[in-house]
Amino acid sequence: MQDNLIHKGQRRKMVDELRALYPFDERVLAAMATVPRHLFVEAALVPFAYSNKPLRIAANQTISQPYTVAMQTHLLQVRKWDRALEIGTGCGYQAAVLVKMGAQVHSIERQKELYMQAQKTFLALRMDAIFSYGDGYEGMPLLAPFDRIVVTCGAPAIPQQLVMQLAVGGRMVVPVGSDTQIMTVVERLPDDRCQITTHGNYRFVPMLEGKEAGAPFRRQRCE
Ligand code: SAH
Repeated sequence: MQDNLIHKGQRRKMVDELRALYPFDERVLAAMATVPRHLFVEAALVPFAYSNKPLRIAANQTISQPYTVAMQTHLLQVRKWDRALEIGTGCGYQAAVLVKMGAQVHSIERQKELYMQAQKTFLALRMDAIFSYGDGYEGMPLLAPFDRIVVTCGAPAIPQQLVMQLAVGGRMVVPVGSDTQIMTVVERLPDDRCQITTHGNYRFVPMLEGKEAGAPFRRQRCE
């Protein structure tokens, strides 16, 4: 599968649609205009890759619709060279958008299958990010602090472990809630307090505790 003129045209159309819906930071739209979203999804879903809809990926998960990716990235206010942490790698699309914005990206996924798939996709696209297979609730304490943290699954409450891994002046964007989620921005202020703002309702797959190896790995276990 390649990235041809048709895909580029579809991307331009997607970005024009997003621009009409909300005054997104143009740097976010420019990044989304370059990431080949169709190469992050399974073959059967390629025709729908650029419609403003969530898509099914492996391990019973979904990737957010382009509008939600644009909004989370917009609220994150990523700057070049930022150290960014993503919770919920999924297929790696959001991570790729952050890379295109110039961030150094670390991303954690609890589903082994998705963790491995995202690495493969990045390798094929010759893109760079550091992927980890683990529980995002723990974050990456050894690599903290991060300038930016984006959670792409619905957290029941603001994950405090992650707040502690924010740099002073850093920002976290996290959908908070169990059934539906309120998009929440946590800014860590210089005096070590946090400022919290909310930005509308969304629906994400839940942020779950622990790691998931997936069926093929379980079957291989010797007991
Ligand atoms: N950002 C992704 C969207 C992923 S959907 C993309 O662009 O494709 C949300 C993902 O969060 C799912 O893959 C799910 O497995 C993962 N997830 C849920 N709870 C998690 C946790 N505690 N740690 C890491 N990943 C988690």
